[in-house]
Amino acid sequence: MAIVERLDKITNGRRTLGIRNPATLEDLGEIEVATEADVRAAVERARAAQPAWESIGVVERAKYMWKLRDQLVARQDDIVDMVTKESGKTRIEALMMEVFACCDFITYWSKHAPKMLADRRGRVHLLRPLKYLKLVYRAHGVVGIITPWNGPIALALNPTVQALLAGNAVVLKPSEVTPFSSQILKEMLDAAGLPENVFQVIIGDGETGAALLDAGIDKVSFTGSVNTGRKIGEACGRNLIPFTLELGGKDPAIICSDANLERAANGATFNAFFNTGQVCMSVERVYVMDDIADEFIAKVVENTKALRQGDSGEFDVGSICMERQIDIIDRHVEDARAKGATIHTGGRRNPDLKGLFYEPTVLSGVTHDMLIAREETFGPVMPIMRVNSEEEAIERANDTDYGLTASVWTKDLKKGESMARRINAGSVAINDASITYGILEAQFGGVKNSGVGRINGTDALKAYCYEQPIIIDRFGRDTEPNWYPFTAKDYSGMQKALKFLYKTPIGRWMA
Ligand code: NAD
Repeated sequence: MAIVERLDKITNGRRTLGIRNPATLEDLGEIEVATEADVRAAVERARAAQPAWESIGVVERAKYMWKLRDQLVARQDDIVDMVTKESGKTRIEALMMEVFACCDFITYWSKHAPKMLADRRGRVHLLRPLKYLKLVYRAHGVVGIITPWNGPIALALNPTVQALLAGNAVVLKPSEVTPFSSQILKEMLDAAGLPENVFQVIIGDGETGAALLDAGIDKVSFTGSVNTGRKIGEACGRNLIPFTLELGGKDPAIICSDANLERAANGATFNAFFNTGQVCMSVERVYVMDDIADEFIAKVVENTKALRQGDSGEFDVGSICMERQIDIIDRHVEDARAKGATIHTGGRRNPDLKGLFYEPTVLSGVTHDMLIAREETFGPVMPIMRVNSEEEAIERANDTDYGLTASVWTKDLKKGESMARRINAGSVAINDASITYGILEAQFGGVKNSGVGRINGTDALKAYCYEQPIIIDRFGRDTEPNWYPFTAKDYSGMQKALKFLYKTPIGRWMA
C-alpha cells in the first residue's frame, strides 16, 4: 500500500484514505476526506465565530496564544511521536522544527502583536488643517490555510497564529500525507480555550483544498508546490481574494575561495540533508570556486559518509515522506548520472531499510542541462558545480526559474553582501543557509516561481488584515469649496489655488 492510498470504501458518506509511516511502512490509520459540503459548513461556522473573536482585541487574543505555547511544551513528546511517524524525520528534527520553532513563533508574534496592529494616526497633506486620518487594522475575516507535509505543525502553526492574532477565524487544510499532526494542533488550541469554530481543521486531499478556495473564504495562505500554487492563484483570482504563495526553491550556495572551508562544508552538508533535504530553503545547488573545489568536495563527502540513516534509535537522516518524492529524486540522480555527473557517495535508495529511504548523495560535475540543477529535488542530494569566478557563480545562481533563498560563503563580509545584492532571491544568507524562515524580523518569500507575497517580518500581522483608513473632518462645516453648486467663481478659485500651490515657493512648500 502507498503512503497515502485511496481506499475502496466510503466512510460516513466520505472518501477514505489510508495513511502509512514512510519510514517503517506501518499502518497509521484512515482518514475521512471532507466533502465540499463539510468544507462550506466549516467556513460558515468560522464566519459566524469571527466577529466576536475580532472584537475582543489583540491583547486578549494573545492570551490564548500563550496558553497554546504551554500546550506545545506540555505535549512535546506527543508531537514528536506523531510527526516522526507521519513524516519519517528524526526526533531531533521534529523537536527543533515542530516544537521549539513553534514556541518561538508564538512568543514573537504574541509579544509584538499589540504594537504591530496598533492604530496609527496618519498625516493628511494639503487638507491637513481640515482633516485627519486614522489607520486601523481590520481582520480579513476567514483565512484558509493550506499546508504541505514537510513541517506539518510548524508550517501550519506559524500562519495560523499570525492570522488568529490579527482577528481572523482560520480553516486549516493540512496535507493528506500528515493529517494526524494537525489534529494535535487542533487539540492544543481547544485546550488553550479558543472559542469554538475560531480554528477548524478540515482533513482531506487536493480536492478538499480546492473546495476550500471556493467556499467563501476571505484570504488564502498557501505553502506547497509551484504547480498547486498556480491553481491556488487562479482560484483566488476568480474569487477576488488576496493570497500568499510560499512555494518551492532551488536554492544555490556559492562557496568563495576565501571561505572558511570547514564551516562551508559543514554548513552545506547540514543544509542539504536536514529534514532529509525536504526543506523549501535547503541547499539544492552548490557553486564552488575551482581552486578550492577538490578540498571542499572531499570534506562534504567525508561528512556525508558519516551520516547515519535510520528509522529508530539515534540517527541523522530520516526517510522521504512519500513515493512521489522519492521518484523525483531517483529521476534527477539517474538523469545526472546518464549525463556524466560523478556520484561520490549515495546515489541510490537505501537497501538496508524497509521504508522510503534515499541515501545522502553528493554529486559533482553537474551541469545546467541536468534536471538536478534545474528542478526542485526536495531530497537528500547535493549537486556540486565548479566555477572559475564569483561573477560566473552569480550568473549561474540566477539561471533558474526559482528564487527563494541563497547563500554566499566568504570571510569577506563586504564582498558577500555585494554578491548577495546581485542574487535574485527572496533572501540571502552569508556564511549560513536555510535560516530566513526562523528570523522572524525578516520577511520570507520568493521571487519568480518561488512565490507571491511574504510571510513574517516586522509587519507580518498586517498581511492578515486590511488597513482601513478612517478620515475625519475636523470642523463639520456645512459644505466644502468643491461641492455643489459649481460656479464660475469656483472655477477661477481653483485656478488661483493651482497657481499658488505649484507656482509660488510658499505654495510648493505647502503642497
Ligand atoms: P503540494 O502542492 O502537493 O500540496 C500542498 C497542499 O496543497 C496540500 O495540503 C495539498 O493537499 C493541497 N492541494 C493539492 N492540490 C490542491 C488544489 N488543487 N487546490 C488546493 N489545495 C491543493 O505540495 P507538497 O508536496 O505537500 O509540499 C512540497 C512543496 O512545498 C515543495 O515544493 C516545497 O518546496 C514547498 N514548500 C514551500 C515552503 C515555503 O515556505 N516556500 C515551505 C515548505 C514547503
